[in-house]
Amino acid sequence: KEEDLLRALADFGQAPAVRTTTATAFSADDLADALDANRIEIHYQPQVRMIDAELVGFEALVRLRDRDGELVSPDAFIAMSESNGDIHRLTHQIIERSLKQLSLWSRQGRDFALSVNLSAASMTQLDLPEHIEAIAQSYGLSADRINIELTETQVQVGAELYDVMTRFRMRGFGLSIDDFGTGDSSLTRLRSMPFTELKIDQEFVRGCTRSQEQQSIVNSSIELGHQLGMLIVAEGVQSPEEWDVLGAVGCDIAQGYLISPPLPPGDVPAWANSWKRLNAESIMSRAGQE
Ligand code: C2E
Ligand code: MG
Ligand code: MG
Ligand code: MG
Repeated sequence: KEEDLLRALADFGQAPAVRTTTATAFSADDLADALDANRIEIHYQPQVRMIDAELVGFEALVRLRDRDGELVSPDAFIAMSESNGDIHRLTHQIIERSLKQLSLWSRQGRDFALSVNLSAASMTQLDLPEHIEAIAQSYGLSADRINIELTETQVQVGAELYDVMTRFRMRGFGLSIDDFGTGDSSLTRLRSMPFTELKIDQEFVRGCTRSQEQQSIVNSSIELGHQLGMLIVAEGVQSPEEWDVLGAVGCDIAQGYLISPPLPPGDVPAWANSWKRLNAESIMSRAGQE
């Protein structure tokens, strides 16, 4: 039954194995140094389909290694890189690194999908879709396995951004609106943008088990997204209760500590294997009770 899966999930979920710091001491010079030395690392957080708990792909989340070997979280350097222009170099390294990793997994017979976060600041580069497509092709990856995430607050009305988004779609990339609910997308704007996926922000995922009111916000976001032909992802799913409620209201994909924290690439194959086993077992036990 559903409960077996939930219990198994609760045992599986864990706090992040790898801690990150948001050191305020991290400066623009530290950032430049880290980029020069290629001291970036990408961690990968699994995304699973809610109807059968099947692993569908990963979100790439960047970290920097500071000089002391400490892992620094993106909150400490993304905004800085946007304001001093280093975001372009950073984005290039992230794309290069994560697509290379994706192609390595492909060669091992694991065809995951990958979601990559892009900052609106790098979306001013008109040929970015062609640039990412070229990197994907050099690794033998087709664009439809790659999903570009943009946060709702960064999606401002503007011909330039719309242009770049359309170019991504024309090349077959998926486009995801991240942290949905934290910005102020009008329905009109959402409909006019070529998004293929909507990610419900953690705040609402948390809220959906707390109040009827917040749950109805989640319900209508899911309904709206589905009507616009989008896939719905819940991010920051931490408890079996949240999984339960989200599944009941038709959310398609879940991501969060309940399933797994973001993982260093070396941990991904073993995680995927044990997840497959867990998944198969819980599905068999469900089938056995029917
Ligand atoms: P995001 O894209 O919304 O990513 C989700 C964040 O929530 C990640 O934080 C992830 O580690 C965290 N998270 C995942 N599951 C849970 C959970 O169950 N509970 C809680 N409390 N947190 C969870 P992270 O990795 O620190 O990234 C923060 C933000 O930095 C991201 O938010 C994204 O906006 C930005 N970011 C991350 N990587 C990149 C990147 O490569 N490029 C750009 N431009 N931005 C990035
Ligand atoms: Mg994201
Ligand atoms: Mg998000
Ligand atoms: Mg976020």
